Amino acid sequence: MPKVTETVLEIDLDSLAHNYNFLRSKLNPTTKFMAVVKAFAYGSEAPATAIKLEKLGVDYLAVAYANEGIALRNGGIKTPILVLHPLAANFASIIDYGLEPSIYSIKILLEFLEVANSMNQKDYPIHLKFNTGLNRLGFGENDLELVSDHLLKATDVRVVSAFSHLAASEDKSERAFTLDQIAIYETIFHKLGGNLGYVPMKHILNTSGIINYPEAQFNMVRSGIGLYGYGNEPSVDAHLKPMATLKTLISQLHRIGTHESVGYNRAYLSDKPRVTATLPLGHADGIGRHYGNGNTFVSINGQKAPIIGNVCMDMIMVDVTEIDCQEGDEVIVFGHHPTAEEFAFTAQTISYELLSGISQRVKRVIIGK
Ligand SMILES: *Cc1c(COP(=O)(O)O)cnc(C)c1O
Repeated sequence: MPKVTETVLEIDLDSLAHNYNFLRSKLNPTTKFMAVVKAFAYGSEAPATAIKLEKLGVDYLAVAYANEGIALRNGGIKTPILVLHPLAANFASIIDYGLEPSIYSIKILLEFLEVANSMNQKDYPIHLKFNTGLNRLGFGENDLELVSDHLLKATDVRVVSAFSHLAASEDKSERAFTLDQIAIYETIFHKLGGNLGYVPMKHILNTSGIINYPEAQFNMVRSGIGLYGYGNEPSVDAHLKPMATLKTLISQLHRIGTHESVGYNRAYLSDKPRVTATLPLGHADGIGRHYGNGNTFVSINGQKAPIIGNVCMDMIMVDVTEIDCQEGDEVIVFGHHPTAEEFAFTAQTISYELLSGISQRVKRVIIGK
């Protein structure tokens, strides 16, 4: 590995392949795999990740918003792309770029039908999203008749899949609720098929769903976080490899005396002579202020260096009093140790937020192939 000379997010495509193969091994051979690459592939690098996933043979990709799908098409991606949360303003470009919208309300359905019609579409692929308890996006069971009526009249579109999303698939204590969601979904799906006269694809599981409810894998699963190396519980994490490692280096060391302060608002005060290291990344890079003031540590030469004082926009300071280190030494912010899950946990957040929040200022470096 070349020496780190600036802050980089290293993206290991071999780890991505490992995680994909692990998740696949939990599924029946005929179950399709939708890889969720929204938010720059959970803060990594969407086109490179999607190209690798395409080579690995994923059946579908999913993004949250239309512009993310357009970026993938511009990157040469040919795999079908589901847009999970399209907005009406983007329907024309969704069709132009061959993206497949998730249709989640009567209003959105009518707006999409109008655009599809005005663009002379026939059997344009759409997906129907049903709300079974998350109460975020989706039709309710009461909308079924109206949705079916509109769809039976329309030749512009064809329903490729009808899906739902679990609220607490990682939460063992919510097992009864989750099984209920799956049962509600099955009822809705059955009625919809009867109304339409054909059977779309059926999918409800995210990563933790694959692990905890494999019996509900139906025709396809949608996995995001697992592909990036996190499984929402240690026993799953043990089989996965973090795809992204955030690395930086020590810019400067300071030797401070007793009762000296470090950083803005003098938030850290030394209790004894200490050595601090200044690192070239801050909250503008996605390491928020909640990681400061001793909450979280980074790893330097295999040892824990706590973040001290307030996180600045472009820098953080860590305590290296007990660590044998030099200016220019490599620093692991998160990756294999600490993992993004461990790092996030110290500030009461989750790997999803930490990973997807690494800002575009941080250079992405792809390793593996
Ligand atoms: C983000 C998302 C997923 C992926 O969830 P993971 O927990 O990352 O596997 C799946 N489905 C929908 C609807 C999503 O919004």
